[in-house]
Amino acid sequence: MATDLANLSAGPQRLRIRVQGAVQGVGFRPFVYGLAERYGLSGFVLNDQDGVLAEIEGNGGDMFLSALRRERPALARIDNIAVTRVAAIGQPGFAIRSSLSEGPGNSVGVPDAATCPACLKDLFDSDSRFHLYPFVTCTDCGPRFTITRRAPYDRANTAMSDFSLCGPCASDYGDPSSRRFHAEAIACPTCGPRLSHPISEVAAALNKGRIVALKGVGGFHLMCDAANHAAVRRLRARKQRPERPFAVMVGSSADLRPYAKPNLLERALLCRSARPIVLLRKGSGLAASVAPGLGRVGMMLAYTPLHHLLFQALSVGRQGPNASPALVVTSANLPGEPLIIDNHAAVKELALIADLIVTHDRAIVQRADDSVMALIDGAPAFIRRGRGFTPEPIDLGVDGPVVVAVGAHLKSTVCVTRGREAFVSQHLGDLDSARAIRAYEDTLHRLIADLGVKPQLVACDQHPDYRSTVIAEGLGLPVLRVQHHAAHLAAVAAEHRLRPPLIGVALDGHGYGAGGAAWGGELMHSEGGYWRRIGHLSPLAQPGGDRAAREPWRMGLGALVALGRGEEAAGRFCRHPLAGPLAERLSSEATPRLTTSMGRLFDAAAALLGVCEHQSYEGQAAMELEALAGFPQVLPGGYHLEQNVLDFRPLLNALLQPGLEARNGAALLHGTIIAGLSEWIGRYANQMGQTEIVLGGGCFMNRILADGLTQALRRRGLRPWLPRAVPANDGGISLGQAALARAHLTAERRP
Ligand SMILES: [Zn+2]
Ligand SMILES: [Zn+2]
Repeated sequence: MATDLANLSAGPQRLRIRVQGAVQGVGFRPFVYGLAERYGLSGFVLNDQDGVLAEIEGNGGDMFLSALRRERPALARIDNIAVTRVAAIGQPGFAIRSSLSEGPGNSVGVPDAATCPACLKDLFDSDSRFHLYPFVTCTDCGPRFTITRRAPYDRANTAMSDFSLCGPCASDYGDPSSRRFHAEAIACPTCGPRLSHPISEVAAALNKGRIVALKGVGGFHLMCDAANHAAVRRLRARKQRPERPFAVMVGSSADLRPYAKPNLLERALLCRSARPIVLLRKGSGLAASVAPGLGRVGMMLAYTPLHHLLFQALSVGRQGPNASPALVVTSANLPGEPLIIDNHAAVKELALIADLIVTHDRAIVQRADDSVMALIDGAPAFIRRGRGFTPEPIDLGVDGPVVVAVGAHLKSTVCVTRGREAFVSQHLGDLDSARAIRAYEDTLHRLIADLGVKPQLVACDQHPDYRSTVIAEGLGLPVLRVQHHAAHLAAVAAEHRLRPPLIGVALDGHGYGAGGAAWGGELMHSEGGYWRRIGHLSPLAQPGGDRAAREPWRMGLGALVALGRGEEAAGRFCRHPLAGPLAERLSSEATPRLTTSMGRLFDAAAALLGVCEHQSYEGQAAMELEALAGFPQVLPGGYHLEQNVLDFRPLLNALLQPGLEARNGAALLHGTIIAGLSEWIGRYANQMGQTEIVLGGGCFMNRILADGLTQALRRRGLRPWLPRAVPANDGGISLGQAALARAHLTAERRP
């Protein structure tokens, strides 16, 4: 904090105070007002495009400043306080002035926050005027990002402008001693939004095993009783989602038992005001169909007053080991389509999925899926970044040119930089449907407009068929094509502010490599704003191209051919009539399609072990192997390291041993891959005299792999870096593209 107090002498004075960080929409102006009252100061406070600006005049300036740094509103984050001395005016009184919104360029706002303890108390206090009101909020909690129509975050710019304040709400809003002083989303049963159905009716439907669509903060959810196997299966059938795991919500952290077994760090993560879904060790009591074949389950805690009311209603009359209710809570969308946020769309499109559709009249302006996190290498990591975190920027540490980056094709996000900050959008999903593409483009243009910037360059993937690449080409800006795995690694380097030279390993499903080759297990080196491939996994045939990603048996077949055991394919994959002829063709093919992807290597192993021949969702085979693995075991001689190629064919061959149990095979797979990677990386790090190792790509969501590899690298005296601020998967690509685009422009400018 750049506060220069040394030359601020005592005595009556007027100070101008600039506060930067997450300071808008979090009750910062009322907080400053309260401090000014406490120390008998006159002046004003306001929001502007740089944060909060205040002027104070009187004798208590020093005390005011130390309190400003010591205390702060629950959701505020202070990055910088700058103080300058200005001429005293002598005007009495302290005022909160309205926002200065001169043109664009205001703060993009703050994330949505879970109901705070004080509002929860109001909710169940029969003397409170907010008793049982599903939309109670204050300056410490409630919806923000998702209800904001335009920056800055003022009631007039939000969905709450549809509701005029009643007398008591207007008085709270204007009362500096109230917790709701300038709480932009303030509402009560008299003047605020209303729910379409009584809570008791919603709870009764869920208790009967019905599927309920409920309007949430960032979109509609589909819900059902997570302990009711038939209900969960019905939801799967109607949502056309046969096996992909569902997340589960409980009322509070005390209600996690018996469903999951969080450790202390995971419990703290669950309780953050962002209320992410956190992957936890599965307990008992959930229907098997919630997360079939997996050892972990995504859990979250109720985060709106509506959720709290619902869980209270569900708890009535319950006893026994499963006394606390648990609900499957999943995004309400049609396959491949974006999350539904609109009441009419919900009624129309969810009619065949939900038995009951519960809406309210507070509009959702910006969609945001629930965020998903897990502890990886002992610290929180994103699997999906959305509600509760967007639009928090990522601090890049240095100023740079304004660029925009369009991300990948699946799990897309966009990123715009301003100054030293990178604004990564919420998870925008896969760009395969017209509506998903429209939602993506809306978010992209809005982010640029809200930030009030003019990007100089757009960065995209090198894959010519990615929809995002096509969109980038249509923006009318110079285009920089960034290699997929370079972007993965650059994202990690950017958030940790690492400076080249660096060594990086990208382990991924698929990325477009040089000449269109399928990459995904790449050792890279960065000497500037550019990542060069210096090694890769030994390539495997990928029969059927993209189909092999959905059908691991094809990768298993490719592995058999690579091992010279193609003739076993027909017998091993006898459920697939194509297997025999395909293996024959592959054996004789001069230039089969190859991939160096770690994800596909896992797929091949899953098929050879008989764990998964068909995936009904991305990453299924690898996730099932992780669930089976337990403690990783190293197979001696399980890999070859020749020149710059890491070859796991001996390991694949060992997985074919007759009588090898799948869980032992999975343990050997993880342990041997960790050992091979660590030796490979260690060798290059020694040669190049480097210690900082950047790890990126979707495979680092595999906890056994990530934990094991980081530990092995540390034992070699190296410093591994994992993605923390954005997901390891393609959700983090836009940040890496943006970082490389900035480096590109900066290098160009250098003489
Ligand atoms: Zn509150
Ligand atoms: Zn009211």
